[in-house]
Amino acid sequence: MQMQNNLVIYNTLTRAKESFNPQHPPFVGLYVCGPTVYSDAHLGHARPAITFDLLFRYLTYLGYKVRYVRNITDVGHLENDADEGEDKIEKKARLEQLEPMEVVQKYMNTFHKNMEQLNTLPPSIEPRASGHIIEQQVFIDLLLKNGYAYEANGSVYFDVKKYNETFNYGKLSGRTIDELQSNTRELSGQDEKKSPFDFALWKKASPEHIMNWQSKWSAGFPGWHLECSAMSVKYLGETFDIHGGGMDLLFPHHECEVAQSTAALGKESVRYWIHNNMITINGQKMARSLGNFITLDQMFSGAHTALSQAYSPMTVRFFILQAHYRSVVDFSNEALQAAEKGLQKLHKAIENIKKIKPSATSTVDVEGLKNRCREALNDDLNSAEALSHLFEGVRMINLLIEGQEKIDASDLEKLTELFNVFVFDILGLKNESAAKTDEKLTSDLMKIIIDMRQDAKNKKEWTTADKIRNDLKNAGINLKDTKDGASWEID
Ligand code: ZN
Repeated sequence: MQMQNNLVIYNTLTRAKESFNPQHPPFVGLYVCGPTVYSDAHLGHARPAITFDLLFRYLTYLGYKVRYVRNITDVGHLENDADEGEDKIEKKARLEQLEPMEVVQKYMNTFHKNMEQLNTLPPSIEPRASGHIIEQQVFIDLLLKNGYAYEANGSVYFDVKKYNETFNYGKLSGRTIDELQSNTRELSGQDEKKSPFDFALWKKASPEHIMNWQSKWSAGFPGWHLECSAMSVKYLGETFDIHGGGMDLLFPHHECEVAQSTAALGKESVRYWIHNNMITINGQKMARSLGNFITLDQMFSGAHTALSQAYSPMTVRFFILQAHYRSVVDFSNEALQAAEKGLQKLHKAIENIKKIKPSATSTVDVEGLKNRCREALNDDLNSAEALSHLFEGVRMINLLIEGQEKIDASDLEKLTELFNVFVFDILGLKNESAAKTDEKLTSDLMKIIIDMRQDAKNKKEWTTADKIRNDLKNAGINLKDTKDGASWEID
């Protein structure tokens, strides 16, 4: 099937903007590295989530059928992202006196809740590393068979030097082996690795390591980088379209993924690599040690000393989308408050479209506005530019309301659709205050209905009382009589 699109995306692998041509249109395979679930989701999780949600939504808008795979790392990610130290999840389990899988469930639930609050669409498949141990072991077998891995004392390591003889280690991140050599500490006498930049594919578990699986090498666990190679190939095929993630994952995580997949399959797995830039807070990197580490729950409730107020999920989403995904976003109270106002202005204008009366002719160019929004997103997902065009639309709406411009019925319909499609469907900026109004309206109406039914009961008009209850039930609302009146819930 042939599909036309003018989408251009920046490919980290080639360091250039390229036309996006999926290998099997209309299908697109998208793999994004998800979180290691050992702590509450924080601002750093919001950026990739929103960036790749925008990509997912935009590709869908262009007519593609996207299989969006985002993994959950629930084993194998050791402290400091290296091959040493405790497993991040096991460490948290020890501190919180929980089972490691209780830690995983707890923080995965928070992550999902926060992702829903940010209005990101759930991925098509969300595989977990611990559920794909066999696939990862098969991958190691392939690497051993091809001669790019070696076993040492029950652990298996990737042989970077050997790989680099045939392929190019550092190709994705732009680092070279020489550079790596000078930046890496010398191997100590006890090290099992042949060279300091070799990385673990399988680690033999120490006696206190709870999360371990049987293998022909040892009872152990997979290295962190391996899961993404094994799971992306399983769900998207040996070659797939897009692999995404935050820039912080570029090295070593993604570089190791490229090496593993290329060494195992003899070819490049990923066609387009996309990386979102980082966030800073008041110009500083977010870090626990700097006291500026803000979780999403704290952001939405305002419960952090760095915040002068609570910021709603849509304010955070809008703020992130106001920047292009490849530039740094700096969070500050002033900038967030400005974003909050901007978003309110946008939604107010959308509400106001309903008040516009059509004229016989148009003096505004709705089609041109739509094209500019589309061109902005086609240019490497420039949401910042798209939003600035939508604000041209806001000015257009205000002039129409004031009667300084005119619009005919067909253009008015297009204008309504333009905002619905770009603001709600593609940018995913829902109107939170409208949702709040709906909730309040429902609860007010239910109070009136419950009072009417109580009146009927008081007058012993049982038929009416029963009819109200049954009609509500048919509408999917369950009424429960309680000591002091009635409560209700939606089925
Ligand atoms: Zn990954």
